Amino acid sequence: MNESVFAPGKDMLRAEAALAELLAAVAPVEGRESVPLPEAAGRVLAEPLIAARDVPPHDNAAVDGYAVRADDLAADGGTVLPVAGRIAAGQVFAGEFAPGTALRVFTGAALPPGPDLVVPQEICREAEGRVTLGRGKRGQNLRRRAEDMSAGTTFLAAGTRLRPQEVGLAASQGLAKLSVYRRPRAVLFSSGDELREPGAEAGPAAIYDSNRYVLIGLARGAGAEVVDRGILPDNEARLRASLAEAAEGADLLLTSGGASAGDEDHVKPAVRALGELRFWKIAIRPGRPLVFGHIGKTPLLGLPGNPVASMLCFLIFARPLLLRLAGAAQVAPQYYPVIADFPFAKRVGRREWVRATVHRDAEGNLRARRFPREGSGILTSMAASSGLVELPEDMAEVKPGDRVDYLPFAEVLG
Ligand code: AMP
Ligand code: MG
Repeated sequence: MNESVFAPGKDMLRAEAALAELLAAVAPVEGRESVPLPEAAGRVLAEPLIAARDVPPHDNAAVDGYAVRADDLAADGGTVLPVAGRIAAGQVFAGEFAPGTALRVFTGAALPPGPDLVVPQEICREAEGRVTLGRGKRGQNLRRRAEDMSAGTTFLAAGTRLRPQEVGLAASQGLAKLSVYRRPRAVLFSSGDELREPGAEAGPAAIYDSNRYVLIGLARGAGAEVVDRGILPDNEARLRASLAEAAEGADLLLTSGGASAGDEDHVKPAVRALGELRFWKIAIRPGRPLVFGHIGKTPLLGLPGNPVASMLCFLIFARPLLLRLAGAAQVAPQYYPVIADFPFAKRVGRREWVRATVHRDAEGNLRARRFPREGSGILTSMAASSGLVELPEDMAEVKPGDRVDYLPFAEVLG
């Protein structure tokens, strides 16, 4: 590994370099599947979609009213024309439009060649086969053929993560099924002798495993199929055996806990013994011990055990990795500038995240309020916050009123 990617004077990797290395180490899964539209949201398109037809396929009325030629309308309104026909949405007009006539039309009705505007019914009066028309200009209240999409254009690129609106676009082209990447399989473990499964008895020295339930939701949100492998003990041989077995058929192994350098931290030695350890110290807070390596060909991310650190490291590192495995072209979330409402002292050379809630002040500006406590074990801080403020390596402090980058949880949970 290139030494320059480390933080100056330390053996710690900068967050950006760590992420770049993670992303370079994986490629999209090879499998594809065809899914019907109702199951397509959240999946990643495996091939580009090319429009087979114009949308809309015809010029049509944008309002209920009368389709006419602008040349037939008097400038100050009051034109009277015979009503020569009626077209509702879905009907094909059989006749031919004659200049000097009006057609009664309804929203979505396909127009024949000839009329070049629709006068809304609210400013018209029809009686005995004739209509008195209000004023109008050429092009008004028409939707032009192909104004949404033209046949032949690529309307969605491969690697697009489908949101409901993209599924709608595919539907508007008449597609019933879409070719998407198969979901990457993420195998999840917790580790620690103190951990108990929710629902079981927990003695005074035990705590319930909360990380796995956060991670299951996060991994699914990132498009993964999750295989939940429960809690591993603080025992290297057991850990090694379980990881080796789980690596078969997994696209990503995700553990939490046991990632630092203590006597009871066995993830690193297990990865070293089974495969290749790439890095484990990153200049970030919270979350420093983050193990990355491979077991066989399968990448493994060993998240820290502290609940806040484990969730944060998932969002910053595991999520982009999973999205890349899932075939997504866009893996980096969007940060938004907000005004800090708090002072904060940080260490230069380290990237730090502050749990925060954003609110709108009287002037309409978005301001971030910091969660008052910092502990990495305080999971209630994540529940009480709307997102994270990211403080870059070169920053030494935040002063109230400073502009900072904010990552809403909503941006990365789905
Ligand atoms: P470790 O990284 O194993 O040293 O764990 C750091 C801290 O996180 C310890 O206090 C652990 O008890 C706690 N921890 C580890 N795994 C979990 C988990 N799955 N759920 C809740 N807390 C955990
Ligand atoms: Mg532990």
